[in-house]
Amino acid sequence: MAEVTRFAPSPTGWLHLGHAYAALFAQEAAGQGGRFLIRIEDIDGTRARPEYEEAIYEDLAWLGLKWETPVRRQSDHFDDYRAALKKLEALGVLYPCFCTRREIQEEIARAGNAPQGPDGPLYPRTCRGRDAAERNARITAGEAYALRLDVSKAMRLVSHDLAWTDRERGRFKIQPDVFGDVVLARKDTPASYHLAVVVDDALQGITLVTRGEDLLEATHLHRLLQELLGLPVPEWHHHRLINDDAGKRLAKRDDARSLRSLRAAGWTPERVKEAIR
Ligand code: GLU
Repeated sequence: MAEVTRFAPSPTGWLHLGHAYAALFAQEAAGQGGRFLIRIEDIDGTRARPEYEEAIYEDLAWLGLKWETPVRRQSDHFDDYRAALKKLEALGVLYPCFCTRREIQEEIARAGNAPQGPDGPLYPRTCRGRDAAERNARITAGEAYALRLDVSKAMRLVSHDLAWTDRERGRFKIQPDVFGDVVLARKDTPASYHLAVVVDDALQGITLVTRGEDLLEATHLHRLLQELLGLPVPEWHHHRLINDDAGKRLAKRDDARSLRSLRAAGWTPERVKEAIR
């Protein structure tokens, strides 16, 4: 079947075998007559670098991939994320969070047994209960704030039967609370990974989201955001991750396993494909 798929790397390091697997998987999943897109996920301005973006195109072309241009670069589209935040704000499901990382850690330590999410302990919702007068005063005084999703409030606006489908694993009923009251706009950026992915997949007309199974839990949250924002719902195919020789998941830090080091060491694209079969 023809699908619209994408490979969405962050230009914060060199691509490694795991990325090669993800990119080839996405291209193949597009099928005959399908479309394969690339998206550069560079909203983290402190870590993204132009030379890594250049290297992404070079490495993917070396692997033999072809994609549509222009490529969508997230940092060029903050207005799209602002518009989505405005919609969510109008639904009353966002609240400003003034907490610093340190304050959050202290609050969690005080509380003792904070519930755990995939990225660590869940935010203890310190700022959820602040009244409008305090919020406004702090914002007017110029205090930095993030915007968080009030998950319980959001769930009251949608059907509790919301579900999503993974091509391999089948149907999941959503568990929207896995990440707690997640940040949708960071203090320094009018977006976060979760918000940008959902907005972009819709704007790019993605019909099949392929990505690593480490992001499976994020899909619960993405499905909720799609519902709140009235966006079309794709299907997902979460695929396996590629490990290093010691069985550990590859990380961007592992320069020795980067595609460019392998290429420099004489590997061919065929050998790469063989290694990740
Ligand atoms: N940018 C994400 C990553 O590098 C991928 C996000 C996605 O595919 O949804 O892991």
